[in-house]
Amino acid sequence: KNTGGGRCTWFDPIMDQIADADARLAADLRQAIARDQLFVLYQPIVELPHGRLAGVEALVRWRHPTQGLVSPGVFIPLAERNGYIVELGRWVLREVVRQAREWELTYGDDAPGKVSVNISARQLREPGFPAEVAELLRDSGLTPHRLVAEVTETAVLGTGEGLHAVRALHALGLRVALDDFGTGQSSLSLLVDCPVKILKVDKSFVDGVADPAAQTAVADGVTEAAERAVIVDGLIVITRGLRIEAVAEGVETAGQADRLHRMGYRFAQGFHFARPMPGPDIALLLGVIPAGRKVDNLH
Ligand code: C2E
Ligand code: MG
Ligand code: MG
Ligand code: MG
Repeated sequence: KNTGGGRCTWFDPIMDQIADADARLAADLRQAIARDQLFVLYQPIVELPHGRLAGVEALVRWRHPTQGLVSPGVFIPLAERNGYIVELGRWVLREVVRQAREWELTYGDDAPGKVSVNISARQLREPGFPAEVAELLRDSGLTPHRLVAEVTETAVLGTGEGLHAVRALHALGLRVALDDFGTGQSSLSLLVDCPVKILKVDKSFVDGVADPAAQTAVADGVTEAAERAVIVDGLIVITRGLRIEAVAEGVETAGQADRLHRMGYRFAQGFHFARPMPGPDIALLLGVIPAGRKVDNLH
């Protein structure tokens, strides 16, 4: 279009460079598992208002040999495009189940009650995925309902394979969470058709509840933040009626946490409470560790 339209330009040098960098990163990613460059951090999901640990979300990290930490926002989409996500996802799931079982064996009832793991659309739709999960659970001995499969609306909508897989996971005893709710092709039918136990309200909506403009009544001059806050408020009514747990994502301030609590939210996740941390640090938050040790970044 920049060249005046009506013309079709396949490659310009910049696009070429981007494609090259992408291809190099993708090639490096294929080595990441074998070279021990992947690791998993766990971010607390807390109960409002006191901040007691309710669960954790596993978030994968890649330590690139020359580029340092690469964000999953970069390498997950890359892995999705080239299909490597299936192998990567398998590695993450195995590692998370191992960690969850270790917590369960060590801390019993005090172990994190819910350990969430992100399942990509491609991974979910891979034939045999539920069978793989079943085998992992059997081999590890992990209590299935401690594991939460976080899937996006987009992964479940469409072909029917996603929905089929999600039902199979539910049948295995896992809990299903709809991640980033509100950002995909949100369909309320999904809340009925899909055995959803947890709804994760996306940060882009939660951001709105902190905006001073959103604190005032929605009158004339409605801001986008105010509108988003109204949706966050309304979702509580829906989830309560459907017996779905609502988790507010990306809570960054005390003001947000307070307002969410007053709206009726019981669960929240965000930098205000804690950042993603190594698995062993989570043990310090379980309340069964000798006093005198504490994790710095937990408020
Ligand atoms: P997500 O599943 O929605 O995970 C939450 C993301 O929000 C994480 O980013 C987390 O660090 C970040 N976050 C949490 N609280 C706050 C906050 O208060 N403020 C801000 N600004 N951010 C917050 P992360 O770890 O960079 O992951 C980004 C996305 O990458 C995830 O979004 C998820 O979609 C994907 N991802 C991460 N790990 C995996 C994985 O193991 N498998 C798959 N398939 N996807 C993953
Ligand atoms: Mg998630
Ligand atoms: Mg999320
Ligand atoms: Mg998100």
